[in-house]
Amino acid sequence: MKLAYFQKRNRLKRYGFSVIVTTLLFSLFILLPKEYLTLINNQTISLLVLILVVTASSWYGGLGPGLLATFLTTFINYFTILKIDSSSHPETGDLFITFVYIIVGFLISLISEVRYEAEFQKDEFIAMAAHEIKNPLNTIKGYACLLQKKIKASGKNKISEYADEIDTQADRLLELINDLLDVTKIEVGKFIYKDELFDLDSLTEEIINHQRIANIGKVITLTGSTHKIIKADRYRIGQVITNLLTNAIKYSPQKSPIKIRLKSKKDGVILTVKDYGIGIPRPEQKAIFKHFYRSQRTRQRKIEGLGLGLFISSQIIKHYRGKLQVKSTETRGSTFCLEVPKNY
Ligand code: ADP
Repeated sequence: MKLAYFQKRNRLKRYGFSVIVTTLLFSLFILLPKEYLTLINNQTISLLVLILVVTASSWYGGLGPGLLATFLTTFINYFTILKIDSSSHPETGDLFITFVYIIVGFLISLISEVRYEAEFQKDEFIAMAAHEIKNPLNTIKGYACLLQKKIKASGKNKISEYADEIDTQADRLLELINDLLDVTKIEVGKFIYKDELFDLDSLTEEIINHQRIANIGKVITLTGSTHKIIKADRYRIGQVITNLLTNAIKYSPQKSPIKIRLKSKKDGVILTVKDYGIGIPRPEQKAIFKHFYRSQRTRQRKIEGLGLGLFISSQIIKHYRGKLQVKSTETRGSTFCLEVPKNY
């Protein structure tokens, strides 16, 4: 489990989980048939229960919930199990066992916290490094654009091509860094969404026009329309559509067309992107939505990419309670279908 899932949970959920797990496990023991009840008197079994409850709580919610589970478990154990048969053993023994419980629970919670902290520092480092790399890269891009303009004006075509290449590669690097930054933000739960109303039809047209300019000669067609205003983050939804479209271009031959279709449904919109490219083998169709996953065919063909675009897209669509699915046949092409509710 990633740090993200822990960080995204609010305090109520984290501490609530700890209370529920503890109560459930102990209730289970108390509701057990009489012949099994003797097990409760066995300290090894109740120590195992403590380890289970504290590990689950600190794994789910970190140090605080881990400690809460420790105290709850120790408390319940002391008053429901140890105290019941205190006549058969000295009370000093009960206190010693209670002390051992607290130490064990504390250690488990601490180990879990150290793990989260290491995970957090790694994510912070990636975010900081990516941010620092972006600044000089933007400067390089700015100068490359300036160079392009000056050289084009002087008519030196060959040198102009070199300047174009610097600009393209700087764009590529920026895309990779932005993807890495987005994934890190998703991991630590800091991916921000704005709520705004926008027209999906015009956003799609804008993106297609941009890709037509960037991929001269590629046939990209658009059919249908939604005539709907949706409530979501325009930039993020645009990011998903751009990812689907650039993938369709990247993973299909230059001469084959890309077909985009817009459709409206009762409570939302549907956008499909169809290509006639390399396709995705059936067993890999689920995995491509995981981060850093790239299909075997893609890796064999050494097509550039980090395997992050679809992961980021699926996380965005999940946030809006929409759907992102793929239908694909190897060597025949793929169709990605995106569904976004009108209001999420
Ligand atoms: P990237 O393209 O950078 O590898 P993505 O997350 O966008 O990352 O895609 C993950 C993988 O899914 C790709 O590496 C590729 O194997 C597969 N894939 C995505 N879109 C298509 C497509 N239209 N046709 C074939 N394979 C695709």
